[in-house]
This record gives sequence, structure tokens and C-alpha cells, in this order.
Amino acid sequence: MLYRKVPKTGDELSVLSYGCMRFPEKKGKIDEENARKLLVKAIESGVNYLDTAWGYHNGQSEEFVGKMLEEEGLRDKVKIATKLPHWLTSSREDMDKYLGIQLKKLRTDHIEYYLIHDLTRGGWEKIKALGFADFLDAARKDGRIINAGFSFHDDTATFKEIVDGYDWDFCQIQYNIIDTTNQAGTEGLEYAASKNLAVIIMEPLRGGSLARTQPAEVQAIWDEAETKRTPAGWALRWLWNRPEITVVLSGMTDMTALEENLNTASAAYPGSLTEDEVRLAERAGEKYKEIMKVGCTGCGYCMPCPFGVNIPACFELYNSYHMFDDKKHEKFMYISRLGGLLNDKSAASLCRNCGKCVKACPQHIDIPAELKNVKNDMEGPAMKIMVPVSKIYLPIRKRLDILRNR
Ligand code: SF4
Ligand code: SF4
Repeated sequence: MLYRKVPKTGDELSVLSYGCMRFPEKKGKIDEENARKLLVKAIESGVNYLDTAWGYHNGQSEEFVGKMLEEEGLRDKVKIATKLPHWLTSSREDMDKYLGIQLKKLRTDHIEYYLIHDLTRGGWEKIKALGFADFLDAARKDGRIINAGFSFHDDTATFKEIVDGYDWDFCQIQYNIIDTTNQAGTEGLEYAASKNLAVIIMEPLRGGSLARTQPAEVQAIWDEAETKRTPAGWALRWLWNRPEITVVLSGMTDMTALEENLNTASAAYPGSLTEDEVRLAERAGEKYKEIMKVGCTGCGYCMPCPFGVNIPACFELYNSYHMFDDKKHEKFMYISRLGGLLNDKSAASLCRNCGKCVKACPQHIDIPAELKNVKNDMEGPAMKIMVPVSKIYLPIRKRLDILRNR
């Protein structure tokens, strides 16, 4: 494992770090047996930074991480990063209250990297008014936290203002071959680094989209490269090529992804790609931007929808429908997953435009408007006919077999 230094402290963090929001799941809960194997393997391979948060896995992530580290005797091998859910706070005292609960859930007396979670313009104004600076100063002084930072989802100007608004040690931004000019962007990355902040990268693979089977137009670009790498390998190496980046988080849901990322990280030196390789990765990112319909990362912050829409799944399948050639397959997957064939219906057509999800989306997607587009392209007569017909005429086992073999 390679390590990079936190500029203000010299602390050494593994370039690949574990994002604890995408553990494998079983029946809606963390699949603890498999998640534990993944974490142990990652830590034994040198990963020393675990990124969790109050809300990940519906509040189960922090508890699982704390329990696993204690039971495996691995607490001393890692730095824990977790985040203040500032949207739940309405006073300075609330901040202490949530940090206290998080310390208990994580079974520790200190958190090495503590962030104000998901700052936007509105969140920034709110925490300033509530006295976040006094809270962080006090928590650093008495040792409950060691380093203070923030994670961010808004525009570059707001990002710079927040960077300059407190004596931060680090920040966490969404950055990848697609997100170079929105949110903090390259300009924000360089700005934070110029102010000596460690920069932690989230969504390096855009919710996994950059690791899946590539659209033909993107794959054609990767195929031009002399050195062969997987799409995920290219996307990660492009990030690590930048010296401003300290750590890249990845939510690895299975051993194959973990091993591939560990392998990629082993050569992740800054400046190790050629200029042509950097340009190739940037061209792939530009091509993605051209063909991706909705910039959803699958973070799930918009959920649950009170009317039952599975918003991230709607956008995932809609994007796949437009990016990949097998349109029939993508539509079938939409109908079977969201149309009510196997589970309760959770399709785009359930949206009642209540607006609850819109404020929660860090990508500022106009979710109800986009869901209308999803409904128009993915639903219609096929779904109306297929769902009831399947329910009446096909034995359940046969339907499951059909789905499994697709
Ligand atoms: S706007 Fe639509 S998708 Fe969003 S929460 Fe309301 S009903 Fe659900
Ligand atoms: S719509 Fe927005 S909040 Fe919902 S999963 Fe996608 S990016 Fe996240």
C-alpha cells in the first residue's frame, strides 16, 4: 500500500481507503459476515482510513464498523472518519450530543477525522449560526476528535468560501473523470491543496458507473490505450496521478472489486501517467457526460420517497437504457425490478411531485422532472401488460428462474 501525507500534520493515510456506505447487504441489512471479511482483508492489505457516517446503511454503518474493529482487535490499525449529521442539529449542544452518540456507536473515545457532513450553501450558513467553530475547537481541544474537516456538495465559489471559513485539516469532495467542472471541481481541488488541506475523494467511480460494462463509445476510447487497464483502473489511476489528492475512498462491495482496487493502488504514484494517458481518461469522461442522461450517483440521500419510488434505481436503469445497446434487456430489468413483478412497485410513475426528495439531492437533480422522463421512456404498454400477465400465468419459480438466467 502507498501512503500520502496530510499536509498540516504529516499523518500518513493509505491512498486507497474504505468507503463504508456500500457494504454488501442481505435482506436490507449489512451482510456482516461478508462485510467483515472485506474490511479485514482491506486493513491487512494496508488500508488505514475508514470512512463512515451517521446515515450510512440506515444508521447501521457506524455501529458495524465499531463492533468489527473491537472484535477483530483492529482499532489501532486504522483512522476512523465519520461525520456530523448537521441537518439533524438545531443547537450547538446538539453537535456535542451527536458526536457523543457516534463515539459510543464506534466504541472509541476519539475520532481521528471528523467532518461536517454534506455542506452546501444553506448548510454552511446554518452551522455558522449554530456555532460549529466553537464545537470543533472544543472537540479538538479535549481530544474527542483529532482532525476537523467537511464534505461538500455545492458550487466552486461556495467551496472556496468554506475552505477559507475555518482552520480545517481536510476536506472531502466528489471528483472523478466526469465531475471536473461541477461541484468543487478541479479548481476547488487545487484551491484546497494550495491552502494545505488534505483532500479526500468520494465517488471516484460515480457510484460504480465507471466500473461497470462501458458504453461502446467509451470503451472505444479505452481501447486506444497502449497500456491495458480496466475502466475502474483508469478512473482511479487518473485520480491518483494528481499530487493534490491525499486519499481516494471506494465503497467496495465484493472481494473482486477490493482486490482490483488494491492492485491498482499499488502503482498509484503522483505523476505516473503519461500526458497522453491523462488526456485519454479525460476524453472518456467527456464522452460519458455526453451520453449520461441523469447525473445520479446512487447515494440514496433522497430516500425514502413517501410514495414508494426507488429513485436511485429508476435513474440507474434509465441511464443504462440510454448508454447500452441492449434496450430490451434494460427495459425488462426496469419492469422486473421496479414494476411490481417481484417486489412492491417502486417505479417512476408513482411520483406525486411532492418535492420532498429535491432538497436532499447533493447533485441538485430536478428529481420529479427527471422521473417523468424515466416514466415516458421505461414504462408504458409493455409494463402495463407484462406485470399482470406474468403474475397470472407464470408460476413464481419459473419467473425467478427466467430472471436468474438473464
Ligand atoms: S417528488 Fe416524487 S420521487 Fe420525490 S419524494 Fe415526492 S413523490 Fe417521491
Ligand atoms: S437522485 Fe440525488 S440524492 Fe437521490 S440517489 Fe441520485 S444523486 Fe443521490
